[in-house]
Amino acid sequence: MKVLIIGSGPAGIVAAEEMRAADPTIELEMVTQEPYPPYSPPAMADHFLTGRSEPLYWKGADVCERLGIAYRSPARVASVDPHGRTVVLHDGTRLGWDALLIASGSRLHAPIEGADLAGVHDFKSLAAAEAIIRRVRRREATTALIVGAGFIGMEIALLLADLGVRVAIVGRRTWVMPRMLDPETAEIAGRSMVARGIELRLGVEATGFVERDGAAAGVRLASGDMLTADLYVAATGVKPNIRFLAGSGVATDWGIAVDDHLRTNVPGVWAAGDAVEASDRATGKAFVHAIFPNAVDQARVVATNILGGNLAYPGAESMNSLKHLGLPIMAVGAMEGNDELRWRDGDALRKVFLEGGRIVGFRFAGEISGGGLLRSFLLRGEDVRRFGRRLVLPGFGMSQVVLPAMSL
Ligand SMILES: Cc1cc2nc3c(=O)[nH]c(=O)nc-3n(C[C@H](O)[C@H](O)[C@H](O)COP(=O)(O)OP(=O)(O)OC[C@H]3O[C@@H](n4cnc5c(N)ncnc54)[C@H](O)[C@@H]3O)c2cc1C
Repeated sequence: MKVLIIGSGPAGIVAAEEMRAADPTIELEMVTQEPYPPYSPPAMADHFLTGRSEPLYWKGADVCERLGIAYRSPARVASVDPHGRTVVLHDGTRLGWDALLIASGSRLHAPIEGADLAGVHDFKSLAAAEAIIRRVRRREATTALIVGAGFIGMEIALLLADLGVRVAIVGRRTWVMPRMLDPETAEIAGRSMVARGIELRLGVEATGFVERDGAAAGVRLASGDMLTADLYVAATGVKPNIRFLAGSGVATDWGIAVDDHLRTNVPGVWAAGDAVEASDRATGKAFVHAIFPNAVDQARVVATNILGGNLAYPGAESMNSLKHLGLPIMAVGAMEGNDELRWRDGDALRKVFLEGGRIVGFRFAGEISGGGLLRSFLLRGEDVRRFGRRLVLPGFGMSQVVLPAMSL
C-alpha cells in the first residue's frame, strides 16, 4: 500500500512517523513546497534568536531518510484527481496513491490591498521568515511595520524587537490578540509589548499597502494617514491551503470538511491539521483551530485510520500560550461564560469562565499555575462548583488544595 502525504508540517510528519512505526513495509511519499526538512513553525522565532536548529527540525533533519519517506521537496501540488488516484504537481509530474493524506496546513490570509506587493513579508513559513531576517541582518531594515495584532503578529514583533529593529504594530481592534484574549488580559500583554519597545497602534484600520515603483512603500490607514518603515509584514490572519482541491470533488468550506474519523467525503482521501475544519471539542461545531497540538492529535488519529484502524477524533481545542512575552499567558476555550471567577494582583490576572458549573474557558496572565488541571476539568466537562472560588486562586492544583476538595 502506498500513502501519499501532501505537506511536511507537524500534521504530515507525525502521521508519517506513526504509520512507519505501525507498519515497516508501507510505502510513504511526502510532497511539500518547503525547500527544507520538516520543521516546527512555533520554533522559528527561537531559531533566529539563538541559532539553535534542534527545536526547529524537531524530528531531526534526517527524519525522512530515517523513516524511509520518499521526500519530494520543493514541489508544489497543483491538483488532485481522486478518480485516477493521482496528484498533479506544478511541473506536470503525476504521483499515484492508494491513500491520500492532505496535510497542507494554512497560509497568510490578507484581505487587504497591496498585500502581494514586493516588500510585503509574512511569517508563515521558514522561507518567508528567512527573507525577513536576511534584510534585518544586512541592516536593510532597522524599522518594521506589522499589520495585524494577532498571535503571529506578536511573534514576529517580539523577534524583530529582540533583533534590534524598531517595531510598530497596527491592529484593527482596540486590544492585542483579539481571537485569543479578552480585552483585560490583552491589556496586560500589550503593556509587556510596549515595555519591550514595541509601538502599538490599536483601533486603527489599515486599508492597504501603498505601491511605489512596484514595491510597498507604506501602509495607508482609514484615516487617510500613511505610515512608513523599512520592512512591512502582513500578519492579518491565516487560511487553509486548499486551492489545489478546486474541482477535485473533495468537499471544502473554510477548510476541508471531515467526519469524526478525519475522512473527507472522497473514499481513500483523508485530512489533518490546519487545513481541516474539524469539530470543536466543546461546541461540536466544525471550526479551524489552527494550532500545533490539534495538528499532532489529528495526525495520530488519521494515521491509525488510514492503516485500517477505527479511531474517532474527540474534537479540536482552542488553546494557546505565549512564550516570548516575558510574562506567561495561557488562553484556553471560551472568552466568556454565564459566570466568571477572577483574581488580580497587579499584572497577574486569572479569569475562569463557567456555564452551569462547568469551565468553558480561562485566561491566565503572569500566574498560570494550575492551568493544566483546569484544562482537564474543561475537557472532561466536570462540575467544579465544589471548589468555589479556590478554582481561580494561584496555587490551585497543588495537592493540598485540590485533594480535600475532590474527596467531598
Ligand atoms: C510563527 C508561528 C508561530 C506559531 N506558534 C504556535 C504556538 O506557539 N503554539 C501552537 O499551538 N501553534 C503555533 N503555530 C501554529 C502551528 O505552527 C500550526 O498549527 C501547525 O504548523 C499546523 O501544522 P500543519 O502540518 O497542519 O500545517 P503547516 O505547518 O502549515 O504545514 C503545511 C505543509 O503543507 C505544505 N503545502 C501547502 N500547500 C502545498 C502544496 N500546494 N503543495 C505542496 N505542499 C504544500 C507546506 O509547504 C507545509 O509543509 C504557529 C505558527 C506560526 C507560523
